[in-house]
Formats: sequence, C-alpha cells, structure tokens
Amino acid sequence: MEKKEQLYEGKAKKVYATEDPSLVIVSYKDDATAFNGLKKGTIAGKGVINNKMSNFLMQILEKEGVKTHFVEELSDRDTLVKKVKILPLEVIIRNISAGSFAKHYGVAEGIVFAEPTIEFSYKNDELGDPLLNEYHALALGIATKEEIALVKSMAFKINEVLKAYFKKLNVTLVDFKIEFGKTVDGEIVLADEISPDTCRFWDSTTGEKLDKDRFRRDLGGVEDAYQEMMRRLMGN
Ligand code: ADP
Ligand code: UDP
Repeated sequence: MEKKEQLYEGKAKKVYATEDPSLVIVSYKDDATAFNGLKKGTIAGKGVINNKMSNFLMQILEKEGVKTHFVEELSDRDTLVKKVKILPLEVIIRNISAGSFAKHYGVAEGIVFAEPTIEFSYKNDELGDPLLNEYHALALGIATKEEIALVKSMAFKINEVLKAYFKKLNVTLVDFKIEFGKTVDGEIVLADEISPDTCRFWDSTTGEKLDKDRFRRDLGGVEDAYQEMMRRLMGN
C-alpha cells in the first residue's frame, strides 16, 4: 500500500490517504512538543520507536479483545491503519498521581490510587484541550451516551492489559492518554498511538522517568529513555 496525498500534518505524525478509502498511512516524526505546542524540539529516533512500540502494544491489546486501528507496519516510521473519524476526546487514565493531576489538586506525585481514574478533555488545540465531563461531551454532541460508555470500558480494559504487561518489564504505568475513532464501518476502535509521548512510565525499582517528562522537564537523557523503553518491550 502506498502513500497518496497528505491529509493532515500534526505535531508528531503525518496522515496520508491510500488507494483504499477505508485505510490511511500514519507516518511518525521525531518532532516533539509540550505545553500545547509552546515548547518545541526534536527527539532523535523517536518516530521509529513510537511507531514500533505503538504497533506492538496495539497487537497485544487486539489479542486481549480490544479493537484497534492497527492494520500493518509498513516501515520504521509508517503504519497502515483503519481510517477513523477521531472522537474529539482525549481520554486520560491515571493509576498514580502525576503531572496536571498533582498540580490541580495540590498533591505530590507518586500517590498510588486505590482505583484508576478517568478524565476527558476536549481535543481542541485552540482552546487548550479543556477538561470536560460526560455530560459536557453529550451537550457538545462530541459522542453519544453509548459511545461514552464503550470508550470508558475500553479505556479501563486497556489500562489493565498494559499495566500488567509493563509490570513484567519492571515498568510502572503511571498514566496515559488515548484517543478513539469510528471506522467507515461505524465501529469504535482505539486509534492514534500508545508511546512514551502519551504515557508516563516509571522504572519500578528506581522510579526513573522513562517517557516524555524527560523532554517536558529538561531532565536530559530523553533519547536514552525512549530507547530503554523500546529495549524492554521489544529487545533493541
Ligand atoms: P496532533 O494532531 O495532536 O498534533 P499528531 O501529530 O499525532 O497529533 O497527528 C496525528 C493525527 O491523526 C491526530 O489528530 C490523530 O487524532 C489522528 N489520527 C490518529 N489515528 C488516526 C486514524 N486511524 N485515522 C485518522 N486519523 C487518525
Ligand atoms: N497526555 C498526552 N497528550 C496531551 C496531554 C496529556 O499524551 O495532550 C498524556 C501525558 O503524557 C500523560 C497523561 O496524558 O501520560 C496525563 O497527562 P497530564 O494531564 O498529567 O498532563 P501534563 O502533565 O502532560 O500536562
């Protein structure tokens, strides 16, 4: 399958049409942004790592019964996926306090929750991805009640599968953001990516950060952290 016209260029990926109207190709870049695009940079090799990691994890999820957009890895940076209409919702699951949660509620990072939390933000860069609840999402016509219920159950399932998988690699899954979309057949699937750009990963022994927080917070060792996650997950 070959790339046809570019449909979209985002902060971290490009999306191309293919000859099949139900499929698109996503192409992962090394560009990195944080704080809604305010901080910009590149992370050498990130596109390759995020592409391969995301595909690997989506295949694990598929085996566990989670429907995803993944179809076929075409090259180091390019993957064929089902074309979806993205629900403009960022779905965030948290197992441990960190980032904006710690900031909003004035608590330390690292508090282990008795139960995971879920929150939604409205995927809209101009508005700065504002937080919203299910009633807001319904009021804005972003999704139906049924779709929200499905997205919630899929998100918690994804958390359980990934948390257990990363635990075996001595990695603690702190929190993550996922996106869902509707295929041309009307099915809701997990879309976008799952990578160190979109998850917080802490080494379970040392607490070392192995994700994009190294870039956001200028901690150094950004490339090494992405490579370490890739090595633990896929060996190399
Ligand atoms: P952003 O748009 O936030 O800058 P990216 O650079 O990752 O993000 O761009 C990828 C875009 O492609 C995102 O808007 C994402 O929602 C969208 N996308 C992800 N998976 C699919 C898919 N299967 N079909 C269509 N669009 C997708
Ligand atoms: N996240 C993301 N994209 C966003 C916002 C958050 O991938 O636009 C991820 C982030 O990497 C983290 C989780 O969602 O794993 C929770 O992020 P948080 O709300 O704490 O925001 P941040 O601290 O990144 O501003």
